[in-house]
Amino acid sequence: MEAIQVSHPKICKPHPDENSLVFGKAFTDHMFLMDYAPAEGWHVPRIVPYGPLALEPSCMVFHYAQEVFEGLKAYRAPDGSIRLFRPMDNARRLRDSCRRLSIPEIPEADFLAAVQALVHADWEWVPHTFGTSLYLRPFIIATDCSLGVHASKTYLFVIIACPVGAYYPGGLSPVSIYVESEDVRAVRGGTGFAKCGGNYAASIRAGERAAQRGYSQVLWLDGVHRKYIEEVGAMNIMFLLDGKVVTPKLTGTVLPGITRRTCLDLLTDWGIPVEERLLPAQELFEAASQGRLQEAWGTGTAAVISPIGLLEWQDYKVTLCGGQVGPLTQKLYDSLAGILWGTLPDPHGWILPVAD
Ligand SMILES: *Cc1c(COP(=O)(O)O)cnc(C)c1O
Repeated sequence: MEAIQVSHPKICKPHPDENSLVFGKAFTDHMFLMDYAPAEGWHVPRIVPYGPLALEPSCMVFHYAQEVFEGLKAYRAPDGSIRLFRPMDNARRLRDSCRRLSIPEIPEADFLAAVQALVHADWEWVPHTFGTSLYLRPFIIATDCSLGVHASKTYLFVIIACPVGAYYPGGLSPVSIYVESEDVRAVRGGTGFAKCGGNYAASIRAGERAAQRGYSQVLWLDGVHRKYIEEVGAMNIMFLLDGKVVTPKLTGTVLPGITRRTCLDLLTDWGIPVEERLLPAQELFEAASQGRLQEAWGTGTAAVISPIGLLEWQDYKVTLCGGQVGPLTQKLYDSLAGILWGTLPDPHGWILPVAD
């Protein structure tokens, strides 16, 4: 990649209050841009003032959703330094998503350099309080100005950033989850494993229905049999079942979460048995009604760990841990949060410091 050109805004924005940050509302002073064209490849990497993009209405992404994205965070440690968590895993997953959507790949080292350069430019935007972070949203859109379904020839890679507050400012609190039996999120051979906007567009209706019933999240079943547990809206899911942690295996329809992988690694360190397998909803809810489902939680970059307090599927409605946060759920959160925000050591080498 060529050297990244940096231009700063004339006037910088005031930073929002660290104690009342809302997810995804306030963006930093800068954004990263890089273009793709067949002759040049990825070219002109640059950091510019955050602002609108000029795109023609015929731009392919608007019509055929040829788009992929990522989500990661920059965390501030107590000594003021800033770090990323397993960012090469985001680079690899973006590459895998690009392959599925026929988008030219970005070399992993270039992805990393772009993320680091943006964090460096927006250094003061990384909040200081434990639990807060700078959320980074890299994405690639198809930019050819033409209708007609085929891969675009030109693309734009963008990274934007927003300071975000602690997901659970008052400490972890359990969420309620409704198992969706009608709509499906992904099928084998589809795009379930790719992080692309299209997957989310198809999931919004079920989310609205769950919300009407008073639930905060949807749990998806497999798209063919509607039998096996897959994942929650934007999180992977894990269960403590008969003393073992069970999580759906990655069959191509489940998003391979980096938090998921990290939790499985930590659990293995602790000697807790882990099973990645197909998990029928019937098995899960029968176990729950017999009191054998001890805990359940979601995993994802946004919340890190989300305890699940209530699950509904068909005629089953089960409360977990008496609606409280389970001890293993809490331990996973405390351990991972300690690594992320630098209050605990990082024995696996997951942390990548950003040079100031
Ligand atoms: C991003 C995402 C996750 C969580 O992945 P992390 O890498 O842990 O943040 C889970 N499910 C879906 C559908 C996602 O888009």
